[in-house]
Amino acid sequence: MKEPADQARFLKMTRRGLLKAGLVCAISGLPCRAFAGWASSSGRNEKKVTLNDAPGKIWEWSTEVMFKRVSGGNVQCLTCPNMCLLPPNARSRCQSHVHKDGKLYTLVYGNPCAVHVDPIEKKPFYHFLPGSSSFSIGTTGCSFHCLNCQNWQISQVKPEDVSCYTLYPEAAVEKAIEAKCRTIAFTYNEPTTALEYALDTFRLSRKRNVGGVWVSNGFINREPLLELCKNLSAARIDVKGFSDEMYQILNAGRLSPVLDTLKILKAEGVWLEMIVLIVPTYTDRMEMVKQMCGWFLKNLGPDHPVHFLRFHPQYKLTHLPPTSISFLEDARKTALSEGLHHVYVGNVPNADSNHTYCPGCKKKIINRVGFSVTENRVKNGKCGYCGRRIAGVWA
Ligand code: SF4
Repeated sequence: MKEPADQARFLKMTRRGLLKAGLVCAISGLPCRAFAGWASSSGRNEKKVTLNDAPGKIWEWSTEVMFKRVSGGNVQCLTCPNMCLLPPNARSRCQSHVHKDGKLYTLVYGNPCAVHVDPIEKKPFYHFLPGSSSFSIGTTGCSFHCLNCQNWQISQVKPEDVSCYTLYPEAAVEKAIEAKCRTIAFTYNEPTTALEYALDTFRLSRKRNVGGVWVSNGFINREPLLELCKNLSAARIDVKGFSDEMYQILNAGRLSPVLDTLKILKAEGVWLEMIVLIVPTYTDRMEMVKQMCGWFLKNLGPDHPVHFLRFHPQYKLTHLPPTSISFLEDARKTALSEGLHHVYVGNVPNADSNHTYCPGCKKKIINRVGFSVTENRVKNGKCGYCGRRIAGVWA
């Protein structure tokens, strides 16, 4: 049962937070609330998660977590492989879930901090409804702690730390339709931490012929993933390296659950694209690229696009240079020579490797400028030149 929001929470925002709240609410027309009870004056949140820091009361943007078990006086979240075991009043590793009075709650239900209409190419999806718009929703929280996180201002904080909106699933679907979006994407932060919100939104959106899109690190347990797949159209999964060791160093995560996710998504018929961010001195290893692409080919087949993305210095890795473009192009060549059909280089404006080429006749069939499709010669799912079937969801 939902209880009223904790009215005693004190409104105290950073200047940046106020600007963000004002600007984005003005754009979206969504009701905005602003809480910053634990934000530091710089807007950064680098405090470690303490145990007993659940809010005093469960607020209106909460609902019970679906996948959990009670164990003695503790509750355990079964949503992702972190399997957080929470004593009373504790908060989860992803900072979105809390244990109150024997129940496990999410604090981010209908409670996004980022809402935008994006081109689907921005996710990036290059073989899924090209040129369409996606109603994009992000909450706070993440199951990983990546040194290179590009959205750390929302992924590594609690929902109370930033300005958020009230946008329940019914309203999200209406807004998406109003904005002429063909899909709703859970994106920007790790959506597994807002699973219940996404499940309800996708369930409703499918009934209105609006697809569900998942932009994720792939770190989710099997049962929640199978539930998600019931109403999911496409997933873009971030493969951050190809060893547990690298995942531990760079992301505080693990590889094998991510690989399991890729196999399940494939088996469940969800359209799948992967991104691989190449981080200098961490993952700029051609042997790793070769191994990873061999795994993709063997387990997923040749047709799921892989996007090698350029790293730009940020968060805790500001001392590193951007990825060399020549490494990214060589990674693409390696992936193609391993047998993958569609390999892209991203975060490099105007690269030829940002377009789609027919794996049969090799002609350019989709031309992109930034996130815009300027020419599309895929007709009825086939190359407009040679008639070969091009993998993807085109209509
Ligand atoms: S979703 Fe959050 S609370 Fe649940 S196991 Fe993962 S990190 Fe822990």
